Parts: sequence; structure tokens; C-alpha cells
Amino acid sequence: MAAIDNLPPLREVIATHGLSAKKALGQNFLLDLNLTAKIARQAGDLSQSDILEVGPGPGGLTRALLAEGARRVLAVEKDARCLPILEEISATYPNRLHIIHGDALEVDVLAHLTPPVRVIANLPYNVGTELLVRWLTPPVWPPFWGSLTLMFQREVAERIVAQPGSKAYGRLALLSQWRCNARIVMDLPPEAFVPAPKVRSAVVHLTRLDKPRFEADAALLSRIVAMAFNQRRKMLRSSLKALAPDIQDRLLAAGISPTERAEQISLEGFCALAREIART
Ligand code: SAM
Repeated sequence: MAAIDNLPPLREVIATHGLSAKKALGQNFLLDLNLTAKIARQAGDLSQSDILEVGPGPGGLTRALLAEGARRVLAVEKDARCLPILEEISATYPNRLHIIHGDALEVDVLAHLTPPVRVIANLPYNVGTELLVRWLTPPVWPPFWGSLTLMFQREVAERIVAQPGSKAYGRLALLSQWRCNARIVMDLPPEAFVPAPKVRSAVVHLTRLDKPRFEADAALLSRIVAMAFNQRRKMLRSSLKALAPDIQDRLLAAGISPTERAEQISLEGFCALAREIART
């Protein structure tokens, strides 16, 4: 297959710049540009969108996003060692790559993006879940992004798409599926990365819904779900005791048996309970 751009192969780039992977920054790099192109394509047509990429590292995915026609890429990278590499990519794609050196948990990305926006990233494992929860729980909906195409450890990806009754079902599944369609679109073995992590990885694609699937107050739903799954083996009448003195009656009014456990309750059930609790 032809090279996707005229830049040097990633192995050469990493060697030239002496970029040894740092565990503390969750650095597991993708060096196969065919693979990064495949990930970029999972997000659909990029030509009309700004792309937010968190953690571009040496730029394997960044190069794929640009080669696949992204209108503009905003790349937020914490590791200063990656900046000269990213500047070289920027020079190859004039005015299409904007690099910010900083922590994605702190940078105000909205100031640098023009809608429509898609988020596409091979996330650092240590901040990946926190970023996802933030993107799923903004104060107003719809959020700034139209879709999220994100690489996670396979176990986290499974928690996002999990259904009631499974061990993986919990807060991530409920927050994701309440306001998005979510599916796993790619599976990657450890050998796809340098260095190879211990576990498999997967790419999840989430597209936002204009309106939540069921009505509920976001903060209250989030609180109820966190309480219920914090003690997932307990019956709901006990795990949610602190929520309302008459929790048994509230559960019954929401159509939920007080002796059921969190993992048996559907998204619809949790939303009904949130509405019931909000009635007071
Ligand atoms: N996108 C590259 C790839 O696919 O090869 C690198 C992915 S690597 C899993 C995660 C990247 O996120 C690293 O480059 C790391 O330095 C960066 N990173 C870690 N924590 C970050 C943070 N809080 N904000 C921004 N970038 C971060």
C-alpha cells in the first residue's frame, strides 16, 4: 500500500527524536499508518469537521486524520518531547493542524474549535475514562461534539456498550447509552502498539442523540447510578437508602422491585427512578 504522506515512517521519527515511551503518560504508540487510517475512517467523512485529538504523541493517528481529509485537527498533547514531531506534520499540512501543549483535563478546547466537531483519539489510559465522562455529562445537551471515536482498553470498551445483567454493566454503560448510540467498531491486539500493553484494546464509536432516550435530570441520574453500582451486590432498597427515607415506595412507583440489584435495572428504569425522586 502507498504511504499516506511524504513524512518519514513513524519508527524512524521516534528514533530520530529519541522518543522513548513513558508509562506515566500512558504512552503506547500506534506506528502502523494503515491501522491509524482504518481508525480514522471509523468516524466517517471528516472533510466538513474540526477534529479534537487528545494525546497525538508522535502523530500516527494525526497523520491519518489529515490524510483522510479532516478540515482541521486540534491536537492537545501533554508531552513536550512530541511537539517538534507534530510541528513537522503541521508543515506538511499548512493551516490544518493546530497543536496545543497542555493537559487535556485543563485546556479549554472550545475556544479553538468550530462546529461541527468530532473527537477522535487513542486516549491515555490514565485519563481516558475521566475525559469520556466529562464529554458525556456537560451542563447542556447536545454537547460540542457530534461523535466520539475513542480507543480504550477492551475492558473499558465493553463497559461502555454493556447491557443489563452483565458484569460490565454500570455507570459508563448508562451514561453512554442514555444520550448516545455506542458500539465497538474495532478490536486491536497488544502487538498493534509500541510498547505492547498487557491487555487488548478496542475502538468505540459514540454518536450523540439530539435528545436523551428517556427524560431525567442528568446530575440526579448520575448520582443515583453511582450510588446503585457502588454497592452493586446489595438490593436497591439498601444501596439507595440515603436517597430518600421512603426509597421502597419510590422504587415501586418507578416500577422497580426494591429487592432487585443495580445490574438488573434497565436505563429506562433508572430514568423512571430519577423522575420519581425529582418529584419531591
Ligand atoms: N495518539 C498516539 C498514537 O496513537 O500513537 C499516542 C497515544 S498514547 C496511548 C496517549 C498520548 O496521550 C501520549 O502521547 C501521551 O503523552 C498523551 N497524554 C497523556 N496524558 C495526557 C493529558 N492529560 N493530556 C494530553 N495528552 C496526554
